[in-house]
Amino acid sequence: MALDRFGRNISYLRISLTDKCNLRCVYCMPEEMTFRPRAELLQDDEIIRLVRVFADLGFHKYRLTGGEPTVRANVVAIVAAIARTPGVREVAMTTNGLLLDKLAQPLAAAGLTRVNISIDTIDPAKFKKLTRWGEVSDVWAGIHAAQGAGLAIKLNAVIVRGYNDQQDVVDLARLTQYQPWQVRFIEMMPFGDVADFQQAGVVSEAELRATIAAALGPLSLVDDGRLDGEARLYRLPDAPGTLGFISSVTEPFCASCTRARLTADGRLRLCLLREKEVDVLTPLRQGATDAELTELLKEAIWWKPWGHGLGRNVIPLNRVMSEIGG
Ligand code: SAM
Ligand code: SF4
Repeated sequence: MALDRFGRNISYLRISLTDKCNLRCVYCMPEEMTFRPRAELLQDDEIIRLVRVFADLGFHKYRLTGGEPTVRANVVAIVAAIARTPGVREVAMTTNGLLLDKLAQPLAAAGLTRVNISIDTIDPAKFKKLTRWGEVSDVWAGIHAAQGAGLAIKLNAVIVRGYNDQQDVVDLARLTQYQPWQVRFIEMMPFGDVADFQQAGVVSEAELRATIAAALGPLSLVDDGRLDGEARLYRLPDAPGTLGFISSVTEPFCASCTRARLTADGRLRLCLLREKEVDVLTPLRQGATDAELTELLKEAIWWKPWGHGLGRNVIPLNRVMSEIGG
């Protein structure tokens, strides 16, 4: 078991498979993003070895993210290797869905059970503006392929003032009246070069709920407000699906946080909104034994931070979201 000094049992690892992406969402990365050379990224065998060490430490839940995890070569083989590692109970993925049309079936066969698919608006023109060149029809094809492959689906939307904060929010919420999906609205967080844009465009959870309720009826709290992962859930009248709100900035969920993140270049990041990271790649490449890696990880986890410093204007500047693994 990997405990931190606040008594939290850290057992959920998000692995960024790559910093690269086939989109350039305005809230995630600059248009002229430069990516790391391949040699600086964790190689397949390094990821698989680290998962074995993490699993021995009690990590049982894994989420592959990025950048865009589906653009990584060998993604299906990586999923299969993680899924068969002793101690691993769940392998999930966060993806923009563009490549799921082809990959959903093989990924499910390899052991993937859940996908969170990002779709910030169902309006094709606005989708293109938010992602800089994406086609929302490709995401729909991915969602249907994921459904066909039997993957559990949640939809993620980041709401940006002036881009998708009005009708788009209502249209996304309306999906839950027809499908048993969880549609989650993620509060925009500030990182690196795009922090100013992000802070200016944040739309609060209260505002989103008011917009949805005015158009579609009252929202009732699900499960007395107990968090589902990081989301607080609501339901529209008679809807089969639910609405989730992830408000990491205004309502942090640090007490129930069991996550750690492995960046694509092999750093362990214990809090999304704190810059501190521990280099795992260098010792791994210098020949550290499993026992030495275990000690390194345990020590890093012990010092997992509590709470972000955004209220005091302490913004994580060393990386943007796609490099950390959202
Ligand atoms: N490319 C995949 C995708 O878009 O789903 C996975 C990586 S992406 C970084 C993971 C999640 O982070 C997505 O749901 C995305 O919308 C969200 N995200 C990106 N930048 C964000 C920001 N500044 N604040 C909050 N969420 C953000
Ligand atoms: Fe790519 Fe996902 Fe970032 Fe959009 S949010 S640019 S899809 S990594």
